[in-house]
Amino acid sequence: MTRAMNFGAGPAALPLEALERAQRELCDFDGTHMSVMEHSHRGKAYEKVHDEALALVRQTMGVPDDYEVLFLQGGASLQFAMIPMNLLPAGGMAHYVVTGAWGEKAVAEAEVVARTGGGAVKVAATSEKDGNYTSLPTEIAPTDGAAYVHVTSNETIHGVQYALDSSTPFPARPPLVCDMSSDILGRVVDVRAFDMIYAGAQKNIGPSGVTLVIAKKSLLDGGRKDAPVVLQYRTHAKARSLYNTPPTFGIYLVRNVLSWLVGLGGVPAIEERNRAKAKVLYAAIDGSGGFYRAPVDVAARSIMNVVFRLPTPELEAELVKAAEAEGMIGLKGHRSVGGLRASLYNAVEPAWVSALADFMKTFAAKRG
Ligand SMILES: *Cc1c(COP(=O)(O)O)cnc(C)c1O
Repeated sequence: MTRAMNFGAGPAALPLEALERAQRELCDFDGTHMSVMEHSHRGKAYEKVHDEALALVRQTMGVPDDYEVLFLQGGASLQFAMIPMNLLPAGGMAHYVVTGAWGEKAVAEAEVVARTGGGAVKVAATSEKDGNYTSLPTEIAPTDGAAYVHVTSNETIHGVQYALDSSTPFPARPPLVCDMSSDILGRVVDVRAFDMIYAGAQKNIGPSGVTLVIAKKSLLDGGRKDAPVVLQYRTHAKARSLYNTPPTFGIYLVRNVLSWLVGLGGVPAIEERNRAKAKVLYAAIDGSGGFYRAPVDVAARSIMNVVFRLPTPELEAELVKAAEAEGMIGLKGHRSVGGLRASLYNAVEPAWVSALADFMKTFAAKRG
């Protein structure tokens, strides 16, 4: 079987090794004569997997001991609501840095929570220009006294990513909360630079249905106590993410994906691979004599989601179709921005990206 070259934005490609391991272990997990998804989440067979997955997150991300690692459900979208429910006190104000569509959604949900919870929400910075996001904000309004500041490290739809180096103007205090859904584990990150990191698993961690939260224990302990119990972080922290039935098979697959990542050399090795992939694709765009055009500022270009345009929407549709015929799928841009988008998550093979770049060169030569 040849694998589809999946450039989809999420759910995304998973490492073949992780899938094959699941296939081997599917009907008889660890000699138990049943699959892992049929095991009780309170039983030894599953608990071992659960603990291993949590430990692999700590290992690969370098999570300090005073941070909690949680597996939750509801996707990053539920976090848009849970964060203010827990961290925005009555009379407090949450600040949001908005660099794309996901940041907008986070603000909208926080405003709903703030209306009933007695808090307020402020946009501390936005890079929206003419209805679009092609850069990063140069200035963030003072955030002193904010309950927390929310940022998005990589805006998946617009292809805009923070470098997370000394050029990144994130406020160090108050608590910094980061939606890292589409670039977590794709590059080395200093967890200590954040108070909370969260991500839906379906881009770089595993299948959909699992949400990863990494947060300072003290932040979660100090959260509001008037939210429904199931929506309070402390509930899940106390129960080691086993308060209610977790998505056991999803967490099992997270274990397989992270084991694969460790085998590859961990995050430093995958970062090098990811940067090389992005370089190949942006070079194909920049070297096309203007046939392909990347709308995002060079300094803000994402290494995970490469957004680009062709001279006309008709040519864009033609390329998507021709690429599919070659086994390259998921290249259509998000409906809200149009154009094309190639997502280059961890499990996207370098050879696929080279094949795409070659295909684009040939296409441009024929149609340019
Ligand atoms: C995909 C994505 C989301 C939404 O994730 P769900 O798990 O579908 O809720 C939120 N933020 C970012 C940055 C994303 O890439």
